[in-house]
Amino acid sequence: MENFENNKKSSGQLIKPLQQGLIKAIASLRKDGGDIKKRYVIAKSMLALGRLIATWKDVVGIVLASHTYPYRLIKGKLFLAVSDSQWMQTLTFLRSEIISKLNNVFPDMKITEICARVGVIPEEVKRNIEESIWPDWREEPITEVKGVKDKDLAEGIKRCCQKSSARIKGLTDKGYKLCIICRAVPTRSSDGVCAMCLYKSQESTRLKAMTLISEMPWLTYEEVSESGIELSELEYNHIKEELYNASDSLINELGKDLLIEFDEDTFAQLQKEITRAIILRTGCLPDRVDLSDIQSLEFFDVRWNKYLKPFMGEGD
Ligand SMILES: [Zn+2]
Repeated sequence: MENFENNKKSSGQLIKPLQQGLIKAIASLRKDGGDIKKRYVIAKSMLALGRLIATWKDVVGIVLASHTYPYRLIKGKLFLAVSDSQWMQTLTFLRSEIISKLNNVFPDMKITEICARVGVIPEEVKRNIEESIWPDWREEPITEVKGVKDKDLAEGIKRCCQKSSARIKGLTDKGYKLCIICRAVPTRSSDGVCAMCLYKSQESTRLKAMTLISEMPWLTYEEVSESGIELSELEYNHIKEELYNASDSLINELGKDLLIEFDEDTFAQLQKEITRAIILRTGCLPDRVDLSDIQSLEFFDVRWNKYLKPFMGEGD
């Protein structure tokens, strides 16, 4: 019976942040004076935050939702309170995944960044999540802790074991299974691999792909796939874009150095880097890149031409 009451309360509490956002938004709009446009922007982001809080659990999953709390949203920057440094670390692995998930669910919010810091997760959020999902940890069997002399510490460890086993039980009821790779993180993904393990394996694939494309920037998506690296076309394009940006900033650094003082090696490196950047953008083969063709260079970046021109010899 008590449980039923709790459930009723928890669904009501989920709506609460949305209402609070709305009330604050209206109140701030009503206030006289000030910049109406600015107020409108604030009100809009408060509403967005309310929507986000209300669905946070579904977006990031219950495990993460009980350790993180979105408290501010400004110009696509989402501010998160995180329960402790360990979860901060977990979050760094999941950051990009969360951002893309959020943008799927809330394309209008255009979230580009997550700023996390250790902070307080509101008690009601924690209680809400724990009570609605996990069996009472106090009813879990007690594991005896051996070798720990400090009484309080031993008690603490016992409690942790109980809570952890209740959590796993609760998640299993919800269809979660322990990750088949790390055997530690409960997951509901169809392949049985948790988000962290998936991220790690994706990272190593990504790294392989990145090295390959960096060495042979003319490779097409099909050619990279044929080499046995499994990645999506979107990831392939993303890697190329990232490499291009890295080349671009290196070009600007080298170019600025050259303009200060000419140096053969720097010039050779600059030419190589510009060639790479052009290949990354166009997919053409190295022998098709003509660095004396000013117009094509300016198509990419006007500055490149400025760096090259004084040193290109008689060609131009
Ligand atoms: Zn795992």
